[in-house]
Amino acid sequence: MVSPASPASEVLHRVFGYEAFRGQQAAIVDRVITGGDALVLMPTGGGKSLCYQIPALVRSGTGVVVSPLIALMQDQVDALSAVGVRAAYLNSTQDADERRRVESALLAGELDLVYLAPERLKLDSTLSLLDRSPVALFAIDEAHCVSQWGHDFRPDYLALSVLHERYPTVPRIALTATATEQTRREIAARLDLGGAELFISSFDRPNIQYRIEPKDQPLRQLLQLIRTEHPGDAGIVYCLSRASVEKTAAALVAEGISALPYHAGLDAATRSRNQSRFLREDGIVMVATIAFGMGIDKPDVRFVAHLDLPKSVEGYYQETGRAGRDGLPSTAWLAYGLQDVVQQRRMIDENEGDLAHRRRLSAHLDAMLALCETVECRRVQLLAYFGQPSIACGNCDTCLSPPEAWDGTVPAQKLLSTVVRLWRERHQRFGAGHLIDILLGRETERVRSQSHAELKTFGIGTELSEQEWRGVVRQLLAQGLLGVAADGYGTLVITDASASVLDGSRTVMLRRETARPVRASKQKAG
Ligand code: ADP
Ligand code: ZN
Repeated sequence: MVSPASPASEVLHRVFGYEAFRGQQAAIVDRVITGGDALVLMPTGGGKSLCYQIPALVRSGTGVVVSPLIALMQDQVDALSAVGVRAAYLNSTQDADERRRVESALLAGELDLVYLAPERLKLDSTLSLLDRSPVALFAIDEAHCVSQWGHDFRPDYLALSVLHERYPTVPRIALTATATEQTRREIAARLDLGGAELFISSFDRPNIQYRIEPKDQPLRQLLQLIRTEHPGDAGIVYCLSRASVEKTAAALVAEGISALPYHAGLDAATRSRNQSRFLREDGIVMVATIAFGMGIDKPDVRFVAHLDLPKSVEGYYQETGRAGRDGLPSTAWLAYGLQDVVQQRRMIDENEGDLAHRRRLSAHLDAMLALCETVECRRVQLLAYFGQPSIACGNCDTCLSPPEAWDGTVPAQKLLSTVVRLWRERHQRFGAGHLIDILLGRETERVRSQSHAELKTFGIGTELSEQEWRGVVRQLLAQGLLGVAADGYGTLVITDASASVLDGSRTVMLRRETARPVRASKQKAG
């Protein structure tokens, strides 16, 4: 472990001016300094940067940081230069002269840190430059971008597998603020981090109050939130489309709120002007698409509002995580309506990706819907999604005003026993659509061809509508009482926890369902 007198602590005090390491920082820093690989999962604001910056300063040579955040490299380099760290970056925004200057500094061992965009590592010129440079470590920031399963896949990240092959003795540290178990495994596999020590910090952000409410008149609801709880505060409002960003920003300005738009359709100068105003001035409300925010380090963002449903829990967690980095009370507020579901289903249907990709998008959406519908503590649900058990938080809407719940134990048993029977008797697995057809006793073509009318559970579920059944399925998935098979087909399977429902030892409480749109048939799996 890093002792108070260690070189790492010395750098922490002298260069960064901090008293002590936080959480797992000391252990991570120690691991990398001694030449080991590390995979770091730490929430936004947890202090990931020091985990590679300090080893880069302590080890001889330059720390090479791979980051997709080209727009922020200048800021990062400026911040480091301000405390006397010799930092630079190499990316496509530079002219040849600037690039050459950085390259010769790197070759001469005159840099502590160099930031690289991932696409540069595909270039032979970059690799040959690194071959000739003293490299202290490789840091792979936003490592979830390597995961095809994750919500933010960047193909250029796949090229990073070359690092281990080409530089087997250089320690590597991969960092992310968002990774489910599956994403984590994918990162380790794709980056060849099998031997890396895993550091998982708590994902809880106790100062953030999570709230999800039905969307009625979104703008009025948003104004109410800002005026009653966050007047004059800095905040981020996320919208799905550029058009709604523009419309919402204009409407807020008309109401006297200092709002600015941000989306990929604005020219680079406007984007960067709005971003720096948000960072430097007080009380700006940034209305943005998700193009905004990754890597933004503004400690006093007091609220993050979503006017449209995020596409995944990972996205929701990362976006809401931009609130309250300073640890003070902050609000994560989401208005969610039927139309969101309709729209997102349609977008998935129309997605150009292959079937497996659409299924992935669909699974992400289902998990997000489950979070919206939970009767349990939102935080418990959110943390469970990232594999972290917790207890009811007392600081989310469902804790503060519990929603109407109903006892869904019997329907849950009917559904689960259908899954069990199909597997035991026929060795078959299906998606939600067909299971519901069986429970409702529908004589569909598949029911006929598979003789599923002979199943004991055929037609035993007519007390619920198809929509209510979908709600049951989604909520069982959300509670981990039903699982999705890893076959890529979205077929449903029982989990270890299902047994307690089937044997009657566990009561299943569900949130009262509102009407939901019917899924397009393309989405039916199984
Ligand atoms: P992340 O990348 O995990 O979102 P950062 O590395 O940007 O987090 O750190 C978040 C904030 O916490 C920064 O302002 C950083 O300077 C501060 N910080 C990090 N580690 C420490 C520490 N050990 N002591 C005090 N402040 C710290
Ligand atoms: Zn709660």
